[in-house]
Amino acid sequence: MILVSACLLGVCCKYSGGDNKNNRVIELMKKHSLIPICPEQLGGLSTPRKPAEIQAEDAKEVLEGKGKVLNTCGEDVTQNFIKGAYEALKIAELYNAKIAILKSKSPSCGCGLIYDGSFSGKLKKGNGVTAELLIQNGIKVYTEEDIDDTILENIVKIDY
Ligand code: SF4
Repeated sequence: MILVSACLLGVCCKYSGGDNKNNRVIELMKKHSLIPICPEQLGGLSTPRKPAEIQAEDAKEVLEGKGKVLNTCGEDVTQNFIKGAYEALKIAELYNAKIAILKSKSPSCGCGLIYDGSFSGKLKKGNGVTAELLIQNGIKVYTEEDIDDTILENIVKIDY
């Protein structure tokens, strides 16, 4: 069981109403059970929606109530992001998923690098809110950019 950002599977849940279809991720369905999730929709946000970015040092601060997530209109969508993260975790636990492959750079799904909060396309080190919560709960998070042969071998080896 692998939790996957739904947009990577071609689901049109992206803020723009489009998707982030990735054939390497879709190929994993041949050998694995993929569970699509969209934390922003799970958190109650509509599609399409205004893009949002983390306005805090990191996602940990957001989860601790010390930082916010704002959209391009300045609306506070922090609670939607937190709710979506906990709903995604609930689904991971229901299916006993120990691995997640999430969309890179997203304020929800990104892992390792995310947009820096300036809405200028610049990146900074950090995780999205959902990726952070999953990691805190022992789930190994990758992004679609990590899907090379080595990572695939590691995924196959992990007992889940
Ligand atoms: S929240 Fe995650 S799954 Fe949903 S559209 Fe954004 S990157 Fe994709």
